[in-house]
Amino acid sequence: MFKILVVWCVLYKVLQAAPSVPENEGFLQNPRYYTYDELTNVFRKLETENPDIAKLISVGRSVKNRELWAIHINSNVHNRTLLTPMFKYVANMHGDESIGRQLMIYLAEYLILNYGKIDRVTHLVDTVDIFLMPSMNPDGYENSQEGKCDSKLRYVGRENENGVDLNRDFPDQFETHRAGTIIAGRQPETIAIMTWIISRPFVLSGNLHGGAVVASYPYDDSNLNLECCRESKSPDNEIFKELALLYAQNHELMKTGQACKNDNFPQGITNGAYWYEVKGGMQDFNYVKSNCFEVTFELSCCKFPNASTLQQEWSINKGPLLSFMEAVHWGVKGLVLNTRGDPVLDADIVVKGINHNITTSNRGEYWRLLLPGTYEIFVVAFGYYPSEPAVVEVVRDKTTIQNFTLKLLPQQGNNFMEKGGTIDYKWLWNI
Ligand SMILES: [Zn+2]
Repeated sequence: MFKILVVWCVLYKVLQAAPSVPENEGFLQNPRYYTYDELTNVFRKLETENPDIAKLISVGRSVKNRELWAIHINSNVHNRTLLTPMFKYVANMHGDESIGRQLMIYLAEYLILNYGKIDRVTHLVDTVDIFLMPSMNPDGYENSQEGKCDSKLRYVGRENENGVDLNRDFPDQFETHRAGTIIAGRQPETIAIMTWIISRPFVLSGNLHGGAVVASYPYDDSNLNLECCRESKSPDNEIFKELALLYAQNHELMKTGQACKNDNFPQGITNGAYWYEVKGGMQDFNYVKSNCFEVTFELSCCKFPNASTLQQEWSINKGPLLSFMEAVHWGVKGLVLNTRGDPVLDADIVVKGINHNITTSNRGEYWRLLLPGTYEIFVVAFGYYPSEPAVVEVVRDKTTIQNFTLKLLPQQGNNFMEKGGTIDYKWLWNI
């Protein structure tokens, strides 16, 4: 009887562990890289065949007028459900770093084809507003060559059509002199992405590159003007490290820290500036100028490996890509409303001990990525009394909800908001 019981228990465990439905990964047959036109067609088809969960958007255009496509995936893709966090992956800003580009196409197909069938996918698509951009530099990609592991002469392919490295073209927190507005003199691709980042309440982002295998976290730059070898820590250094580790430790090569010749990254991660300083990078821009936390993932030693490696790259990166997306739920989220129940836009969420505030969306939402622990959080907003501090407990793999109600300052008593007016900022989010 005991033996039967043991066998039954083992069987039950095996049956429980096995996925009830096989994953659909039909997109992996005959692996090859897609051209710009093929990518456009695949994304159009995904949108047409899955209009309820997929929407194709263009964030802007390249120098040669190619669209900067992103596919938007969510179970409520036409009207983001309140408090659903926004996530993005941006790949191929260096046009000759190709793995991330093709992985984003696979990821889009994987999520869409397996929605409603694989629990992990269904949960992601139901709870995260996902944006996948396979190429921020489509012109550079078209100038690149499969099988070439290093950049071409004069960085043709890596750079955009105007010969500019897009990951050196963003506003930099340590840059002291620059004439004109924040977008003056910048490339169309950079301006498009800057506008996207600033105008949308993204929470978490991955920036996909190649040429090494490592997860690199902010800051990329420092005020020391060194080439390398000195950490440049952001106020959220601890969580950035954990986010980088989450990807690296789920990636069987990255976690060794020695995937490529000369690589030596303990645990497969590095502070960006410690590795080498990057001025004008996209990663720092996300964190410094918006609410979005971005981590850079370098995915392959060879920048543009042969397409025969794509199946292997997908299988090695699928888990890390999904886990990193799920991390968008880490920490605290909630609504900031005034005493009449109207959303308070642009309120600052202050976490005591972390010198980096994030702000509320036009619907009064906030998402504050935090590691497990106890935090004191309060809210300040123009025209309102600061909120009482709330003591908030953050636990692993669960989002803590903490709402705040703000009271108007007396001198604001006759203003527009007090009279019941509301400002429609919706247009800003619909671009
Ligand atoms: Zn790169």
